[in-house]
Formats: sequence, structure tokens, C-alpha cells
Amino acid sequence: MVEIDVNSKLSVQAGVLEQMDNMGHEQVVFCRDRKTGLRAIIAVHNTVLGPSLGGCRMWNYQSEAEALKDVLRLSRGMTYKSAVAGLDLGGGKAVIIGDPKKDKTDDLMRAFGSFVDSLGGKYITAEDVGMQTRDMSIIKETTRYVTGIAEELGGGGNPSPVTGFGVYKGIKASAKFKWGNDNLKNRSVVVQGIGNVGETVVKHLTDEGATVYINDISPQRMKQVSEEYGAAIVSNDELYSMNVDIYAPCALGATLNDETIPQLNCSVVAGAANNQLADENKHGKMLMERGIVYAPDFVINAGGIINVYDELIGYNRERAMEKTENIYNSVLRVLEISREKKIPAGQAAIELAERRIKEAELKN
Ligand code: NAD
Repeated sequence: MVEIDVNSKLSVQAGVLEQMDNMGHEQVVFCRDRKTGLRAIIAVHNTVLGPSLGGCRMWNYQSEAEALKDVLRLSRGMTYKSAVAGLDLGGGKAVIIGDPKKDKTDDLMRAFGSFVDSLGGKYITAEDVGMQTRDMSIIKETTRYVTGIAEELGGGGNPSPVTGFGVYKGIKASAKFKWGNDNLKNRSVVVQGIGNVGETVVKHLTDEGATVYINDISPQRMKQVSEEYGAAIVSNDELYSMNVDIYAPCALGATLNDETIPQLNCSVVAGAANNQLADENKHGKMLMERGIVYAPDFVINAGGIINVYDELIGYNRERAMEKTENIYNSVLRVLEISREKKIPAGQAAIELAERRIKEAELKN
């Protein structure tokens, strides 16, 4: 028989509640389905503005603690992202512990859907790392609280073109803030990561006449995008120190860190990647001190959430694109608050989000 150490269990539980207190979470649900092997955590951060919406990430976490930390951090980020984007949505996120390549089955997806359903709409799921549009369709068999459904099934399909359009608008807003003019013709931009979103950004930038440089870990991808848009390829060595107007990180997170920030030779950082700052506080401050304008990632890349939000009210891509244009105003507003209050842009965005949530709370 396995002995249960009650004290250690209690301390683990107290730790979770303490973390919820520290980060302001409303509810955290641990999901276990023996039949399918599902081990998942759903975190509902805040539902003041509306139901919590955020993707489900499937990842081979090395420990439960790591999975919990990720879901708490990501769900909080969703609250801020939706609030700044002006959506009537709260923030939530889910993580499934497992290797999506080996452990994902349709039954596992259905089991996850049942847990989502048990929350009665307080949490609405969507796609994230390790999940695909097809998975959302399977999850839909056990819950209606799912977005990111394929177009042919009445959903919004791939959100990347919408996200990319929003990033382009955010780059223009950052240019307006920095130079008093949002025209990108004759501006130079280096786009790091030319995947689904990055390529859309390259397209909009080259359409406007900007000089675009690209970098990716895939040489094949670089060749393809370079040929299609006439963008010059740059190596990893020259990427951060390039003398360009704008650096647009559109690959992975944490590319703004102790090592890269001192190398930067640009005036603006504005791109799609999530969690660009390795350390939210320290690196936001470092950019500000260097006089580099930074469009916070969760403000500029909100096109994806705007797109899935539209699914909830009956999907219409034109309307989603129109709403995404507003990212221009959000980025500009955040940068202005940052200047007025002399605080890093990320902090200004969080203040803006918290203000909106507080106002809604007072009305309720
Ligand atoms: P993607 O997987 O289609 O593209 C990522 C690209 O980055 C790939 O081409 C990959 O080869 C490249 N890459 C990976 N590591 C790199 C490195 N170290 N240096 C240079 N290139 C590298 O992903 P995506 O959907 O285009 O998303 C890009 C980023 O935007 C991610 O951080 C994602 O979380 C974020 N984001 C995407 C959406 C969306 O709608 N897809 C919404 C919000 C945020």
C-alpha cells in the first residue's frame, strides 16, 4: 500500500492556493482521467469581463510544478491580453501534461473536453502549442466551450493571418509613436521567425515598401520567403546588432534578455512572439533605459484572441480584421501611458488592463 504523507499533501495544496493569491486566480482545476491517462490543469484567472478564454497547451512538462507555473502565468497573461484588446473576455488557460507526438489520442481530447464542459462555460478552450485545429474539432464532441474550429465546421480557422495583420498595425503605431509618422516606406525591419505569423508580417511590410530582412532556423523557409517577397536573409550572428529601425521578434519567446538587449541597434521592438522578455520587469526596464520603444507582446499579438472571440458571436473574418485594426490604438495608448508615467510599456499595458477590470467590477 502506498503511504500518503498528509503533511506534505497539505503543504502542496497550500502552495497552490498561495500562488493563486499572489497572482489573483479565481479557480484552478486539476483534471485526471485514468482511462485515457489525461493529466491536465485548467486555470481560470479572472472572469470579471467575461468567460475566461485561452488556449490549451500540450507539453512534456518535467514536473507538475512546472506545468502549474506555466498555466498560472499563461492564464494571467490572457486576462491582460483580452482586457487591453477591449474584448468582453476573462483570462484562462489549460495545460495537458504529455508529449503531443506520442501521448495524444482522440479519447484523451474528448476526456479533456469533458473537464472543460464541467466548468459550464467559465473556461473556453482554444489551440496553443502542441494542439491543432483538428484537436479542437474532437474536443467539440464533448463540449461546446471550444474555439479555433476549422472554417469548414463554422469556425475561424487559422488565426495567423489575423495575428500578422494586427502585428503590422502595431508596428505602424510604434512607428507613429517614435517618429510621429506611421509610414513604413523606407523604414527597415528585421523579422525573426517567418512562420505562419511572420510571413504575413513580411507581406504587409513589403507591400508598404519597407526594407525587410528575415531570419529563421529553417534555411528552406528563408529561401522561400526571400524569393517571394524580395527580403534579404540575415544570419543569427548579425540579427540583434543590425542597424535597422525595427526588430520584429516573431519566433519564440525570451529573445529580449541580458545578452541581446545591449546588442540592439534598433529604435523599436514590435513583433508577434509570446513572452519576448526573458524577465518581464528587468528587461522591460532595460529597453526603456536604452530608449528603445517596445510594443508589449500581449498587446500587439492580440489578433489571434480577437479572431477566436469572433467565433463566439458567429464567425465573420471581415469583422475580426476590423476589430484587429484597433491594435493600432491600443499600442499607441500603452506607449503614451508608458511615456507619461515613465514606466516600462508592459507595466503600462497591465495598468490599462487592470483599470478596465476595476471599472467593470465597480459597475457590477
Ligand atoms: P510558427 O511555428 O508558424 O513559426 C515560427 C517560426 O519561427 C518558424 O518558421 C520557425 O522555424 C522559426 N523559429 C523557431 N525558432 C527560431 C529561432 N531561434 N530563430 C529564428 N527562427 C526561429 O509559429 P507562428 O504561429 O507563426 O507564431 C509565431 C510566434 O507568435 C509564437 O511565439 C507564437 O506563440 C506567437 N503567436 C502566434 C499567434 C497565432 O495566431 N499564430 C497568436 C499570438 C501569438
